[in-house]
Amino acid sequence: MTSLLAEDARVEQLWTGAEWTEGPLWVPSRRVVLFSDIPNDRVLAYDAATGETVVDRQPAGFQNGRTLDADGSIVHCSHGGRRVEREVDGALETIADGFDGVRLNSPNDVVVARDGSVWFTDPPYGIDDSGREGHPGDEEYGGCFVFRLDPATGDLRPVVTDMEHPNGLAFSRDETVLYVADTGAPQHVRAYDVTDGGCENGRVLLTVPEGAVDGLRVDAADRLWCSAGDGVHVFSAEGEHLEHVPVPEVVSNLCFGGDALDELYITGTTSLYRVRLAAPAL
Ligand code: MG
Repeated sequence: MTSLLAEDARVEQLWTGAEWTEGPLWVPSRRVVLFSDIPNDRVLAYDAATGETVVDRQPAGFQNGRTLDADGSIVHCSHGGRRVEREVDGALETIADGFDGVRLNSPNDVVVARDGSVWFTDPPYGIDDSGREGHPGDEEYGGCFVFRLDPATGDLRPVVTDMEHPNGLAFSRDETVLYVADTGAPQHVRAYDVTDGGCENGRVLLTVPEGAVDGLRVDAADRLWCSAGDGVHVFSAEGEHLEHVPVPEVVSNLCFGGDALDELYITGTTSLYRVRLAAPAL
């Protein structure tokens, strides 16, 4: 089949020097890619105009995944704060930090639906005993769920409770399906039918040949772009494998970016990478 990458595409290393990168997000208003170096508790910004990467926030509350809200504000997952937070004019405000009277684990990745609801995963990687990606602590509600937050009312409800370590997540274009990667023992991506404010009918959609899917994104053609141990793998909505983009380091996450959204930005262990695409992804 025709490659989804530009004809002369290569994997460019844009910056290196992190311990473990995560949470890439193209921010159109700033023309930067924000990404986290979680163990060093900092957020970096790659400037697409100058090619420079600078520290954007440190300490950063061990932020992990992030996404844009409809109004252009950034919603971040904070391991250190055990919360989901919204950044407005540089200030961070909590939008979810507890469930059933106890604290969340360590929110990992987040998406915002068209109705404004905020969906996020809550595995324990930021509270384990190593303290490498946050502060050691307990799993207080006794699970690792995917949650849906209604920011208007503050209502927070679990929507997926049958995964071991839910991690990256993304909606299909029409938001009738939610994809969630499990980086616990299952190491697969499951698909769930989205119901009225919930999820049902979870089924295994795909696995990658090496490692596990951590972060994933869905493009305009409903293809899934999945991080993996040996790069990025692209799948159809039916789980058919379409393309492999080899990356020299283990990939944690990815995002589409550039003014035309025809670039793929990849966080791979110590580095930020870019690959040019054949067409706009979104
Ligand atoms: Mg993740």
